[in-house]
Amino acid sequence: MSDSKQITLECSNCGHSESMRTFGGACAKCGEVIVEARYDLLGLDPAAWMTAVRSRKAQLWRYHEVLPLYDTANIVSMGEGGSPLIKSQALAASLGLKNLYIKDERQGPTGSFKDRQATVAISALKEMGVNEMVVASTGNVAIAYAAYCARAGIKLWAFFPALTPSDKMRETAIYGAEVIKTTGTYDQTKQLAAQFAAARGIFLDRGIKSVAAIEAMKTMAYEIGEQLSRELGGDLPMRAPDWFLQSVSGGMGPIGVGKGFREMKSLGLVDKLPAFGLIQSTGCAPMVEAFERKQRVATPIENPDSVIVTLATGSPGRAYELLYDYVQDNGGHFISATDEEAFQAIRTLARSDGISVEPAAGVTFAGLFKLVRQGIIKPDDVVVVNCSGHTLPVEKTILGEQWQKQVDLSAARSTPAVPQDDLATVIDIMGGQRVRRVAVIEDNVEAARLMHRILSTRDDTEIRLAHNGEAGLQLIRAWKPDMVITDLMMPDVDGFEVIRQMKADPMLLEVPIVVVTAKELSAFERKELEMSTSLLLQKGAFLDDEFVEKVTSWL
Ligand SMILES: *Cc1c(COP(=O)(O)O)cnc(C)c1O
Ligand SMILES: [Zn+2]
Repeated sequence: MSDSKQITLECSNCGHSESMRTFGGACAKCGEVIVEARYDLLGLDPAAWMTAVRSRKAQLWRYHEVLPLYDTANIVSMGEGGSPLIKSQALAASLGLKNLYIKDERQGPTGSFKDRQATVAISALKEMGVNEMVVASTGNVAIAYAAYCARAGIKLWAFFPALTPSDKMRETAIYGAEVIKTTGTYDQTKQLAAQFAAARGIFLDRGIKSVAAIEAMKTMAYEIGEQLSRELGGDLPMRAPDWFLQSVSGGMGPIGVGKGFREMKSLGLVDKLPAFGLIQSTGCAPMVEAFERKQRVATPIENPDSVIVTLATGSPGRAYELLYDYVQDNGGHFISATDEEAFQAIRTLARSDGISVEPAAGVTFAGLFKLVRQGIIKPDDVVVVNCSGHTLPVEKTILGEQWQKQVDLSAARSTPAVPQDDLATVIDIMGGQRVRRVAVIEDNVEAARLMHRILSTRDDTEIRLAHNGEAGLQLIRAWKPDMVITDLMMPDVDGFEVIRQMKADPMLLEVPIVVVTAKELSAFERKELEMSTSLLLQKGAFLDDEFVEKVTSWL
């Protein structure tokens, strides 16, 4: 198989095609980045192939003949794919639907359907000999890529927009990826990541991004086809639902699923393609707005206004055109749901069917409710919902604070609050001015040693340590550092006092101060610090040695 396999990539815009082996990341003729993989399936007998497929494990790579990898020896897998298709009982009944199925993508190795994309992308990149890469993500792609990159020995730099939940960034960091949070939107973050990749000559995901994503997501179609035919029977080896529903951001999921059903139809495995129910957050719904205006080109949303950052692609570009065309040809609807409706839907689904999902998947179910209520989805329709991701600690937001009673047994808690750092500030401070002397005031010896190690990677920087506030002030007055990094909680003279005294001394007034603290700050303290310091870093949230190490070494 491996030697003879032919994979060509066909431009979705101009139709130009070339071998995947020579592909340079965009169509050589017109520059379009969304290209579709074509396989030489001439030798493939569909019936025999189905028999072979059924004898393999219920995992994504059981369809390897139609996936963009030359040699199966390069597969990087954790058993992803093959997710259950769960028949809804209570929820279906309350909606009056006879055949509502939930494709449970929460059950992937990192808890979202991005695991499919990760196994295909990372396997293909490994096959190409890539050993370092950059990705921009609102969370799930980065988490999945980080896990698969760890297995493949590929170094990953993950860029996140400002609103990404810190739990998702921390999860990415666990796998050893470099985590970089920007102060911008998702679209701006993508640009920054591209610049960073270009500046350092690193491979950006973009090159085969669309190929890997589309091919990976189409395996959902193959699986649904097999699963529905087992559920509902039929004359053909596979069966297509009447509807496939998903919340959309970049749109790769439904584009892939659409391609899957088209392939299956051309192989004679199904007799039709499903209609699509595509749902976006009201605060970031460029596709829905264009669809309602009957336009094939979406107007970008500059500033997405939704807390559901997973769905924050404001500028869907060509992906929308492809989905628009699909809906014209095969039926379907674009619809939006508010954050409120999504959170409400999460509760309803969890309580009725025992399935707890993340907000982006909540948007899908909120959309389902609307499409049913509006009579667009009919009671007899066979509906498959992509249950795309698992609840992370976002239950906090969903349930509010009233769901439990808390008994606090510790006098001094040090739960990190919202991270206050931002990379741009770090860069401005540390790279903008040339910082040569840094005084670190930190009573915790471990933490002091860590910061010393982090900062001494900069060879133009001299670091001196003081282990309490008083010694710190003496050091500052005698040595005149270019920057002071101080802890807040120290016995006797604490960090607040150090800052107060520095601000009272005309000689020290202008010296930038970075506060690193594990203290949970009151609004008042926060305000005071914001006025007097250049940067506030919350320990535990972001003072992870690798993270800061890499930030400083990057500068
Ligand atoms: C990525 C993602 C989406 C949106 O998927 P696209 O097909 O890229 O638009 C929806 N839900 C979850 C959980 C996701 O991770
Ligand atoms: Zn082209």
